[in-house]
Amino acid sequence: NGAITFKDVHFAYDPARPILKGISFEVPAGKTVAVVGPSGAGKSTLSRLLYRFYDVQSGTITIDGQDLRTVTQKSLRKVIGMVPQDTVLFNDTIAYNVRYGRPGASEAEVMAAAEIAQIGDFIRQLPEGFETKVGERGLKLSGGEKQRVAIARTVLKSPPVLILDEATSALDTTTEREIQAALDVVSKNRTTLVIAHRLSTVIGADEIIVLKSGVIAERGTHAELLARN
Ligand code: ADP
Ligand code: ADP
Repeated sequence: NGAITFKDVHFAYDPARPILKGISFEVPAGKTVAVVGPSGAGKSTLSRLLYRFYDVQSGTITIDGQDLRTVTQKSLRKVIGMVPQDTVLFNDTIAYNVRYGRPGASEAEVMAAAEIAQIGDFIRQLPEGFETKVGERGLKLSGGEKQRVAIARTVLKSPPVLILDEATSALDTTTEREIQAALDVVSKNRTTLVIAHRLSTVIGADEIIVLKSGVIAERGTHAELLARN
């Protein structure tokens, strides 16, 4: 379950400047749809509407046939997991930050999620900027490592629907590959909307939507898009 539909969705932050201009697509339950396109096209806005940071101004978004406007934010948070582009960590151990995904999880479940996201090595440490009572320094995490903490949190939460906002920042190839592998594990058999910055990271998506200036300019599988361009 967790099928998503966008039907003729319009949205503007400022009424004089429409951002999304009639977006329609579906993410069938368990499938992955990637949204690519130039910076400013409206990709992040699309994901924010699905997470209900804002409501659509016309058109409809549904999850399992239910209009998002009739779903409370609280119940939506249970269904949708978000791996944001910039992860903010909280003032406690990495393990605590992972456990936030599902506070009732056992120690073994937290560790299993950490292993999938490949953060097992530093799970007991504090993020940089936070000091322990004995004055130990926190650990400086790279953007990629922070994103892996968010992935572990989401693995633990195990929501039926996932929004992945891929990092734009230049990650080194090894980090990128590790993140990609972890994301592949999380998105498997989950309804997933990926906001991608490069076509090369979403080869396996069931459908790719190319967004340009708030409209869908093109859509198809990776192979179909390549054949056309
Ligand atoms: P993308 O993710 O494709 O780069 P965004 O959805 O972030 O695009 O942004 C689309 C357009 O909306 C951009 O012109 C951006 O400046 C504008 N925008 C994004 N967020 C806001 C906001 N909170 N308030 C006003 N304008 C915004
Ligand atoms: P919102 O942005 O509406 O507050 P959330 O409450 O889901 O939405 O928080 C955004 C992200 O920050 C989520 O990934 C969530 O898991 C994480 N988060 C929020 N509060 C904490 C906390 N106290 N400790 C760890 N992670 C947190």
